[in-house]
Amino acid sequence: MTVSNSSELKRQIERRRTFGIISHPDAGKTTLTEKLLLFGGAITMAGAVKSRKASRHATSDWMSIEQERGISVTSSVMKFEYRDYEINLLDTPGHKDFSEDTYRVLTAVDSAVMVIDSVKGVEEQTRRLMEVCRMRNTPIMTFVNKLDREGMSPLEVMSDIEETLQIECAPLTWPVGMGKGYKGTYDIYRKKLTLFRAGFESLREQDMVTEISDLSDPRLDELLGSQADDLRGDVELLEGAANPFDLDDYLKGSQTPVFFGSAVNNFGVKEMLDSFVEIAPCPGPRKTTTRTVSPDEEEFSGFVFKIQANMDLAHRDRLAFMRICSGKFQRGMKVKHHRIGKDITMSNPTIFMAQDRELVDEAWPGDIVGIHNHGTIKIGDTFTDKEPLQYTGIPSFAPEHFRRVRLDSPMKSKQLHKGLLQLSEEGAIQVFRPINDNIFILGAVGVLQFDVAVARLKAEYSVDASYDSTPYSVARWVRCDDLKKMAEFEKTQQNNLAKDSADQLVYLAANNWDLKYVENHWPEVQFLKTCEHS
Ligand code: GDP
Repeated sequence: MTVSNSSELKRQIERRRTFGIISHPDAGKTTLTEKLLLFGGAITMAGAVKSRKASRHATSDWMSIEQERGISVTSSVMKFEYRDYEINLLDTPGHKDFSEDTYRVLTAVDSAVMVIDSVKGVEEQTRRLMEVCRMRNTPIMTFVNKLDREGMSPLEVMSDIEETLQIECAPLTWPVGMGKGYKGTYDIYRKKLTLFRAGFESLREQDMVTEISDLSDPRLDELLGSQADDLRGDVELLEGAANPFDLDDYLKGSQTPVFFGSAVNNFGVKEMLDSFVEIAPCPGPRKTTTRTVSPDEEEFSGFVFKIQANMDLAHRDRLAFMRICSGKFQRGMKVKHHRIGKDITMSNPTIFMAQDRELVDEAWPGDIVGIHNHGTIKIGDTFTDKEPLQYTGIPSFAPEHFRRVRLDSPMKSKQLHKGLLQLSEEGAIQVFRPINDNIFILGAVGVLQFDVAVARLKAEYSVDASYDSTPYSVARWVRCDDLKKMAEFEKTQQNNLAKDSADQLVYLAANNWDLKYVENHWPEVQFLKTCEHS
C-alpha cells in the first residue's frame, strides 16, 4: 500500500462529510433535509424536496413503482456544499418503501443524524435503524424536532433516548419553552440565544441571534420575560447533571450530541449544521477481509452498497451506487472488478445533486458515484486499481416478512429461477429454498419489496408470479463450529431450514418465541441477524 503524500487528497477527505438521516416516518426527516439543502444552496425553493413525497404513496402498480424509483434515485444521494465542506446526504427511505436499502445505506455513511419528534419520543423505526448504526458504532447527532408543539419536556426526551436507545445524551443547545411558549434556543457552548419566530424562513443569523455571555445579563429578562429565570435554572441544572459533550465518545458512538428545534420553521437547524460540519467525522479507514484501508491511500478503492434497477425503461440498465473509500476517482479510469476477475471502465459515472444527476469527472473518498451496468454488479462488490480487496460490513439483514412464490406461468420455472437469483444479487429481495421442499420463499425487510419483485419478474423475465402466505416471521443465519452438532441440528430441524442464494443455511421460525425455544435447546449453534455479502 502507498500512503499518498498528496495534500490534495488529504484536503478533499477532510472537507467531506457523508451521512444519513434516521427517523421514524413523520418525525420531520424530509423537512430537515429540505432545510439543510436550502442552507447548502442546493435548492432555492422550499417545497422542492416535499414534492417527491407526494408521489410516493401512489398505487404500487409497476409504472408507479418505476416512477417512484426515477424520483427516488435523484434523491438517493444529495450532494451540497456548506461553508468549505462537501456534504453527501444519503437518503434512507422510510415509510412504505422501507426496505433493506434503508439499512444498507447506513453501511456507506460516516455518521448519522437522528430526528426525534418531541411529541412522540423515540419510535419503532428509529430504534431499528439505530441497531444498524450500532453495528459499526456510527456517530450519531440528534435533532429533537417540533418544539413549536406541546410535547415531552427536553429532559424527558433525553431520558427516553438514553433508556430506549442506550446512548448517552449531551445537549449542545437548550430550548426556552415549548409549544405556544416556545421562545428560542440557547446554545450552551457558544453562549448564544436565538429567538424563535414562527414561519421565519430567513437564513440570516444576525436577525435572530443575541450573544449572551453571562446568563445574569438583564437583557435576558427583557427578551424572555419570566422565562429568563426558567432558562437560568435549566442551565444551572444541566451544568450539574447533564453529560458534558465529549468528542471521543460521540465519535465512538457512545454519546449523542442533542439539538432542539423546529425543522418546519427552520429553527435550530443551522446550529446543528454548524456543529455537524465541525465535529462529524470525515471519511475514515475501512475494513476489508485482508486489511484496513486508509482513505488517503493513493490507490483507488470503493464498494457497492445499493443497486437501482431499470430506472430508464428504454435502457433497462442498472445503476450501482459505489462509495469511494480511498484514492481519487476519475472518469474513464479502468478498475478491477475482483469478484468476476474483470476490468471495467468507469465511462459514465454519475453523481447526484439535490434534484439532478450529472456526469462526474473526479470524486474523492466519501463521495458516492453511480455506475451503469447490465446486471454484473452485486451488492458488496469491491473495485480497486489493482489490489484484490473485499470490503466487509455490507451485510444482508434478516428479513421480517415472508412470502411463498407461486408460479402462474408453469413453463417459466427456469426464468423464475434466473430472475430471483438476479433480484437477490441486487439486494432487491432475499430468496430462500427450504432444504426439504422444492419451493421459493422470499424474504424482505419492507413489504414493498414483494410488489417490486413480482412486477420486475413480469417486466424483465416475462414470468407471472404471485404469492402465498408462509408460516414464518423470523429468519436467522445459523453457524456452528462443532460439525457433529451442526449435522444433528440440520437433521432434527430440517423442516425449518432453508438455503439462501449464497447457499448459507438459514433457520426460519414462526415467531420469536419459537426461535428462543430453539436457541435455548441448541446453545452451540449461533443464530445471526445479519450475514455478510462475500
Ligand atoms: P418525514 O416523514 O420524517 O420525512 O416527515 P416530514 O418532514 O414529512 O414531516 C412530517 C409532518 O410534520 C409534516 O406535516 C411536516 O410539515 C411536519 N413538521 C415537520 N417539522 C415540524 C416542526 O418543526 N413542527 C411542526 N409542528 N410540524 C413539523
